[in-house]
Amino acid sequence: MFNRRRFLAQIGLAGSVPFVLSAFGEETYQDYVEKVLGFRKARRDPKWVDGSMWINAADFSDYGGWVYDTQFAHLMGSGVLLAAGTGRPVEDAKMMFTMPEAKPVRIWVRARNWDRATRPGRFQVVLNGKKLNREFGAADSDEWIWEDAGIQELSAGMHSLVLHDLTGYYGRCDAILLSEDPSFVPPSGVDEMKILRARLMQLPEKPKDGGSFDLIVAGAGPAGAPAALAAARLGLKVALVTDRPVLGGNASLELGVNFNGADQHHPNAREGGICEEATRIRARFDAKEMSLAFGRLADEENNLTVFKNKHINKVYKTGSIIDAVEAFDVCTYETVRLNGKMFVDATGDAWLGYYAGADYRLGRESQSEYGEKYAPAVADNVTMSGSLLAGPKGTFWLTERTGVDVPFQRPAWAYDFPANPEFGRSLKWFQTGDWWFEYDGKMDDLYEAEQARDELLRIYFGMWNWIKNTWERRDEARSYEMEFIPPWFAKRESRRLLGDHVLTHPEALRVEPFEDAVAYAGWGLDVHHPKGVFSGREGPFMCVDHMPISLIPYRCCYSRNVDNLLMAGRNISVSHVALGHVRVQSTLATVGQAVGTAAALAVKYGMTPRGIGQSRLKELQQTLLKNDQWFPGLKNEDSADLARTAVCSASSEQASRPFDEVAGDLTGKPAELTSGRGCIIPWEKGKKLSSLLALMESKAGVGQRVNLRIRAASGPQDTSSREDLLIKWGQVEPGRHWVPFQINQSFDADYLWVIIDKLDSVSWFLRKGTVDGGARTWGSDWKWSSIPGGSMMLFTDEELAAGGSSPASAAVNGIPRPSEQSMNQWASAADQPMPQWLQLDFEKAASIGRVQLTFDTDLNCRNFDTPAFPAQCVRDYRVEVEENGRWVPVVEERGNFQRHRIHTFTARRTSKLRVWVDATHGDRQARIYEVRVYGS
Ligand SMILES: Cc1cc2nc3c(=O)[nH]c(=O)nc-3n(C[C@H](O)[C@H](O)[C@H](O)COP(=O)(O)OP(=O)(O)OC[C@H]3O[C@@H](n4cnc5c(N)ncnc54)[C@H](O)[C@@H]3O)c2cc1C
Repeated sequence: MFNRRRFLAQIGLAGSVPFVLSAFGEETYQDYVEKVLGFRKARRDPKWVDGSMWINAADFSDYGGWVYDTQFAHLMGSGVLLAAGTGRPVEDAKMMFTMPEAKPVRIWVRARNWDRATRPGRFQVVLNGKKLNREFGAADSDEWIWEDAGIQELSAGMHSLVLHDLTGYYGRCDAILLSEDPSFVPPSGVDEMKILRARLMQLPEKPKDGGSFDLIVAGAGPAGAPAALAAARLGLKVALVTDRPVLGGNASLELGVNFNGADQHHPNAREGGICEEATRIRARFDAKEMSLAFGRLADEENNLTVFKNKHINKVYKTGSIIDAVEAFDVCTYETVRLNGKMFVDATGDAWLGYYAGADYRLGRESQSEYGEKYAPAVADNVTMSGSLLAGPKGTFWLTERTGVDVPFQRPAWAYDFPANPEFGRSLKWFQTGDWWFEYDGKMDDLYEAEQARDELLRIYFGMWNWIKNTWERRDEARSYEMEFIPPWFAKRESRRLLGDHVLTHPEALRVEPFEDAVAYAGWGLDVHHPKGVFSGREGPFMCVDHMPISLIPYRCCYSRNVDNLLMAGRNISVSHVALGHVRVQSTLATVGQAVGTAAALAVKYGMTPRGIGQSRLKELQQTLLKNDQWFPGLKNEDSADLARTAVCSASSEQASRPFDEVAGDLTGKPAELTSGRGCIIPWEKGKKLSSLLALMESKAGVGQRVNLRIRAASGPQDTSSREDLLIKWGQVEPGRHWVPFQINQSFDADYLWVIIDKLDSVSWFLRKGTVDGGARTWGSDWKWSSIPGGSMMLFTDEELAAGGSSPASAAVNGIPRPSEQSMNQWASAADQPMPQWLQLDFEKAASIGRVQLTFDTDLNCRNFDTPAFPAQCVRDYRVEVEENGRWVPVVEERGNFQRHRIHTFTARRTSKLRVWVDATHGDRQARIYEVRVYGS
């Protein structure tokens, strides 16, 4: 039987209750369980109205093992109770209701037989301890229908009602209707039903007035939450509306998808701004998901009102301007109207834009349309599939190791994958499921979303059957029992709203220098196969190519035909193929911040979003940079920043990047040389390579000779060459040390594939971040595979010498993060003790009331690897200004863990400012990327 407590322990919540609780402020653990897992409390006591009583699924006071599922409420008008039980019936859902007087009533139960042939989701209704005389969810129809439970004599007073699951296979109940009219048949159409429900639930006829806002953001996922935060911080009165109980979208506690972006494939490329701020909070509280971080940041904004469990399903418009939206509460069904000046669609599915009549695109463009090599010859409606997910670690299913053999029999409705299915995929995590359990992209996951989710159930259970009974490594899974297959459906793709520009793959690949860039992308081109798990040998990807860091133009972020509509997230104006590049969450968070900022400027100047692009672009870009959002080429040109013209000095300066700091980029466990390992690095044709150094560890008691080969490669994924251009050997001694290889040779190749041969008892370390354009390779000579997104600890002597110095002046050079040429930061000398100071002398005395500091949180580390307290980050600091020859403290901060800090204080007239660094989180150097100084 589904065990909630064990489930929570498995997904990692049981041990982390205190911080999870803090995400919900005063609410209790039980509230959390109810909210996130759907065990919501009854909202009301059903009443006898007009000879009938309407009982909603949400009205059950104890959901037992059923979950209250509101995912499809926008299509069917209500949430349902769902028996998500993996083949073992779930605990009963229970409630009481009161009859005002004794009478016979006809009972109707709204249920759905979700697989007509096999009737998997059967359940019973038990009234006052007596089973009604039929099974529900077993009708000869796979639609939602009212099932007649016959006439029952009810006495006046209290009655008990129970939903009793019979199968444990996703039985579902929407509502129960009692009618004193034996001939009454409830309507089946969604609209008629809404009218009846509203009457019997005595819902107000008109939507409640939810207020007027400068900006309304629909959807609070990775894109929507930053959009709302950015705008609220710039002074807008903002409403953030989500139909889920928590913030975060796919990255929430419910679904738990990792935040990825350019950080995964490029050095020093982790996204800054609100994305980094939320990431720091996530890491600080040891959370795996973003609900906690976005929740905390939203709580801090007085200008921001969050509306949870509210699905926007109506738009009020005048001409091409949206005036207001209407949303209904997916638990109470009450409606609310919110008036706004500006709107952001961050719903993923572009519902707001759709209701507003915004132009959109669904599916794949033809190859000829944008010259995209991965596009099909003819355009179609096919999208990437979604997956079922359970948060907060983003697992696809949960299994438990029992210690005894646990047989599994495939339910008749699940797919029966053949013995040798040639999936073209390898199964990595049978314990937690895999990301390629996907349906055929022809499924309509907008209007047949519930059916699409059910199709995933068929696939997931089919996969589990295949693993248990057919897979060649099935012995490993023998003692594992399926614990939970989540019913929550996370989507990868649906509508994309059309802006003034559509970003395409060729543009991203050649890094089109868009003048209106507002964000960057750096994820690979990651387009999943349209046929999902049914693509056979073709595997899970349509394409998965390395991509450069590309720019995202602002023109992709507002609607081309609705004048006050912006968009952020996976529904921005990009082609289907380019979506494969931009659709990851860190990237979308930066798009969100850009769009929220643009909305703030649009309201400030009374302009449309398009108008901002036409006449306030520079201000938009500079405002983003001021708030720690960057893209390549962007430099501080803010004339109000007094620091730009200041002369800098410091207590000490680091002359060049020390060798042991480079070694400090080390990550995780080293890779054992049980097979050959390699690294493909970009090279300049004809350039001479003097030597290479690899960080290795030997557990052999004696020194050994280790072979290194260099081959030519045409790209970062090319492991085709079998021709060694050079073989050298190095000496690896016991313990950990750098192994030098003298090369002294020029290579006429664009990429060098450096391989170290298999060697017993020896390991090669991996490096944090990646070499730009480089890739790890794994394998032996007959079969190599290239693994994008990581690199081995391998340096050219040139790289080690590089790194540049970190003078005080770097803190005002306008670039607040490392570039290829420089670290762009002030770093104190490694041999000088704390405290250390950085001083700014201004051209002339000025009134100063605001200081912005940007610290080093190691943007070279991937988002999900970033530690809570990066050693480089300044922990304790002070700011002083000189007044009449005396240093006066204006800021003192202890325990900082953020990269970007803004301090405002009573303005003081001064010509000198000093930042004291008292302590870091472990690094012996004080590091500051940027100091900005303003009057207010
Ligand atoms: C299985 C899977 C694995 C993935 N893996 C990764 C990964 O490893 N790394 C990565 O970075 N990305 C990954 N992605 C991609 C990433 O999760 C999405 O591209 C991203 O979440 C899109 O963000 P968004 O803000 O546009 O939409 P979403 O995250 O979908 O958020 C939109 C929110 O709006 C709400 N909403 C929808 N309609 C309405 C409405 N009408 N009214 C109010 N609220 C509404 C939704 O309920 C949702 O909460 C994955 C996606 C999937 C499906």
